[in-house]
Amino acid sequence: MDHSNNTFLGEDGHLKRTCAKCGCRIPVSSPYDTCKECIKKELFPKVKEFINENYDVNEMIVAQEFGIDRSIIHEWVQEGHLQYRKSPNNF
Ligand SMILES: [Zn+2]
Repeated sequence: MDHSNNTFLGEDGHLKRTCAKCGCRIPVSSPYDTCKECIKKELFPKVKEFINENYDVNEMIVAQEFGIDRSIIHEWVQEGHLQYRKSPNNF
């Protein structure tokens, strides 16, 4: 009966977390308040800018810089959304 709108306990009694932006379910163990998709949407322009302004960045550097999971960046690269720039000196 008592269905308060912000209960984070699911019907099965398990802890539940929802994305602060779109409200979809996120893993309880997630270090973020938003789901992966929302993180990606929000961060993508920033990451792109970062890569455009810096030579020789890689997944590791970007992940550290933005505090996100390397797999997210990896996906972008795989999908062709991001392209690393090589330092001109390395030609
Ligand atoms: Zn979301």
